[in-house]
Amino acid sequence: MELLKIGSSGNLVSYLQRKLNITETGTFDGPTDAAVRKFQTDNQLVTDGVVGGNTWTKIYLATEKPRAATGRIDRHNDILHLHPIVRVAVVKVFVQLQAEGIPFRIYEAFRFPERQADLYAQGRTKPGDIVTYALPWHSYHQYGLAVDFVLLVNGDWSWDSGGAKAAWWSRMHELGANEGLMRLHFEIPHLQLAGTSSSALRHGVYPPNGDKSWYDNFLSARNTA
Ligand SMILES: [Zn+2]
Repeated sequence: MELLKIGSSGNLVSYLQRKLNITETGTFDGPTDAAVRKFQTDNQLVTDGVVGGNTWTKIYLATEKPRAATGRIDRHNDILHLHPIVRVAVVKVFVQLQAEGIPFRIYEAFRFPERQADLYAQGRTKPGDIVTYALPWHSYHQYGLAVDFVLLVNGDWSWDSGGAKAAWWSRMHELGANEGLMRLHFEIPHLQLAGTSSSALRHGVYPPNGDKSWYDNFLSARNTA
């Protein structure tokens, strides 16, 4: 993903200007630079006027609220419970989709093992279609290393991938791959961190540089499961 700074232009700059509530010109001009620097200062970021993953993540947190999830079988989509490597990558995918007018949202992020067990039961010991092949702790969602992107159209979630929408899902997968996130061919909304394995994760080998908001939540899932 390109870094945005003075002189940049395009739909990502327009999206940035909308998020910062400044005049949308599509060009990273003086007022945009001033607004970015103020946002960075206000959010304890390096104040350099350059918009990359860290600034985008703070913009996401300031403007996209997680759903009010209750309990461990509920759906959670708080990006603070993702490992920071995945969190930044996911936000980069999200903002590029938004800038291109492709209406994906982060439907689910971290998933407790109790919810994984509940989803695994679907189509096996409970009614419904099979939605996952992963038992608890076999899904990257339990490690904060996966998300599901789903379309939100007129306030309704949509998994429709037919017709013209097929290109939207392909674009989501392509942007994910560019940011180090791989898809699973049997779960179209899913992106997960590339370069590790379910086996490594179950043996306690996690990506480096985890932070407190990721780890505390991960531990809470481990400790009482
Ligand atoms: Zn998933």
